[in-house]
Amino acid sequence: MRSALRPVDPLTRRRVLAALAASCPLAAASRASAQPAWQASDDPFTLGVASGDPSPDGFVLWTRLAPRPLEGGGMPTARVPVDWEIATDESMRSIVRRGRAWADPALAHSVHVEVEGLEADRWYWYRFEAGGTRSAIGRTRTAPAFDSPAPSLAFAFVSCQNYEHGQWAAFRHLAEDNLSLVIHLGDYIYEGSTLGDAARRHESPREPMTLAAYRNRHACYRMDASLRLAHQRLPWIVTWDDHEVENDYAADLSENRDDRGWFLARRAAAYQAYYEHMPLRRASLPRGPDLLLYRRLAWGDLATFHVLDNRQHRTDQPCGAGRRGGGNHVEECMDRNDPSASMWGESQERWLDAGLVSSRTRWNVLAQSLMMAQVRQRGPEGGDSHWTDGWDGLAGARRRFLARLAEARRRDVVSIAGDVHAHYAGELRPDFDDERSPSVATEFVCTSISSRGPSPATVARALPLNPHLRYGESRYRGYVRCDVSARRWLATMRGVERIQDPQSPVRDLASFVVEAGRAAVQRG
Ligand code: FE
Ligand code: CA
Repeated sequence: MRSALRPVDPLTRRRVLAALAASCPLAAASRASAQPAWQASDDPFTLGVASGDPSPDGFVLWTRLAPRPLEGGGMPTARVPVDWEIATDESMRSIVRRGRAWADPALAHSVHVEVEGLEADRWYWYRFEAGGTRSAIGRTRTAPAFDSPAPSLAFAFVSCQNYEHGQWAAFRHLAEDNLSLVIHLGDYIYEGSTLGDAARRHESPREPMTLAAYRNRHACYRMDASLRLAHQRLPWIVTWDDHEVENDYAADLSENRDDRGWFLARRAAAYQAYYEHMPLRRASLPRGPDLLLYRRLAWGDLATFHVLDNRQHRTDQPCGAGRRGGGNHVEECMDRNDPSASMWGESQERWLDAGLVSSRTRWNVLAQSLMMAQVRQRGPEGGDSHWTDGWDGLAGARRRFLARLAEARRRDVVSIAGDVHAHYAGELRPDFDDERSPSVATEFVCTSISSRGPSPATVARALPLNPHLRYGESRYRGYVRCDVSARRWLATMRGVERIQDPQSPVRDLASFVVEAGRAAVQRG
């Protein structure tokens, strides 16, 4: 495996420990007294507040101090204390927990507070205070206790929010949609800017290459009021796809086949900026060019979320000989079927298998950036054509995994994915080209929040070539709402009516049901 998780070398470990100490109030207190108190002259909470990765007794609280968000943040080069408090009411009268974190310039004055010891399965409210200024009040919640009865869960999943392609009305709606969770499946930022018409412009037309530039790009996205609202109102679970670093990169290989060392330095900058802006736990602190993103979260006895990383450990896109790197539409490509290829890398694959074997919840969710179902298309030569950046490029790895699912007789796995900028619903079979191959899992794919989609004609041509797909819709930007109970999973595809209007209505486009224990998708 080219980039399986490496053991931490001692130097890196020291750096990590130093960063951990930075978030420990005791270690930090003595140093702080030597520094003059920092007073905010401008609002330092321009990027809002966020929370994530709910557990039965806590969650992560996030903010970043950035009075001048598009110019590196505008903070002094010192560490700054940030006080936080958690209440059981939205007016913050009944405070149940408070503490002090330290915003470190080494992490762009971001703060990640891991709260423990709270009550399971309830809402909480929180806020920060720094430099004499208070943040907005955020709302978040804990998950139900492990293995305890959790009758239902409503959540939304989203992906692909190209800032330049439109407004994010979808986030306003999901913030008010009576949900408990948001899952973001990648392309949270886009590194590339748009040639020609754009709805709005990035803070710079240049691709970020450095830590400073990736920080400014994240800040540009996070200044959007709709996105901030969705973070403020709900806990998020995040994973990434390619554009958080660079289009179509694969592990340590860049799209343009840059020098590997140079690209790993760029990847390190991008990963660090990602960590700094997401409500992730300390386990995901970047270690040089590596960041451990895959992890598991449970919702009582109802669902286990296996959150997957489809970029950092993957095999390169096949059949790119004579071309630059990245994805291609290929017609004749035997290497797609290479069974030794891997999307997840050896360690992550073993971890996922073990998690699926030991899970006792009613549903098992693969939260991943890339659509798993095959999308066969007709190539210009009349043959079958496949896109190699997605799972179709690593079809051998996919078959290996789905065959194991078939053997294990699990029928409770649902893949949720993004990346393709269109809604899809369908079934997963070890052999998509054999109609007798049994359906072993189901999949729902969300359209983009704003990134432009493929033409409706392309989707319409593909559907009859892929009988395992029950639905495909690329005309709308939006999200998927899921209402999950022990009996059934209801997925509702939602679409924004006017992408240039941040107040646009959204509407239901279609809905689908999976009955528990049956790996089949029906119209809802
Ligand atoms: Fe995308
Ligand atoms: Ca993508």
